Amino acid sequence: MFVGHYSVAFAAKSEQNRIPLWVLFIAVQFLDYIWATLVLLGIEKLRVIKGFTAGSMLDSYYHPYSHSLVGALIWSAFAALVYKKFWQAKASNWAALIVGLAVFSHWILDFIAHPRDLAIYDNKWKVGLGLWNYRGLEFGLEVALLAGGIVLYLAWNATRSCRARRCLIARLPWASGFSTRSLSLWPTCLRRARRRESWTIIRGRNADTI
Ligand SMILES: [Zn+2]
Repeated sequence: MFVGHYSVAFAAKSEQNRIPLWVLFIAVQFLDYIWATLVLLGIEKLRVIKGFTAGSMLDSYYHPYSHSLVGALIWSAFAALVYKKFWQAKASNWAALIVGLAVFSHWILDFIAHPRDLAIYDNKWKVGLGLWNYRGLEFGLEVALLAGGIVLYLAWNATRSCRARRCLIARLPWASGFSTRSLSLWPTCLRRARRRESWTIIRGRNADTI
């Protein structure tokens, strides 16, 4: 699984949990960052075999620290704790849990795509559904997941601010026939939109300073 991992990041992002999208992008690929580092250090092992699977030539035959089930659970808990600690008062327990689950989602999606090379513990009891052996199917799943994630992202985030703007436009005096009710609702819409705008700016500043 490659781009499909990012679907989880898009789907998990919402205005309620206030987790920056870039944090979720890192979270969903966190296990692969660990894996790449450990491979470079010679701790985990990788070889290239032509035709290993239809979708990948990489045979990662020894990766117990980054890609075993137990390892993934430990890294997920670690990421949730780091996020909670790092963001301190700003991060709710719920947000930290989402970050942890985003990290763990990597293992679940790898389990679908990988051949039987994901150990449950250490380098034992290897599992994997092997979707990489079906290139078209795997590619289709990745695209579908990514599209689904982006749709959810837009549903959770973009549509809310659009709704505030739509409210303003619909309540414009000339757009609503100068009715007394529309005029009375307009200041409420304006206040709501301004609150949302200043909230976005504050969040942006916070993200810049962290
Ligand atoms: Zn992976």
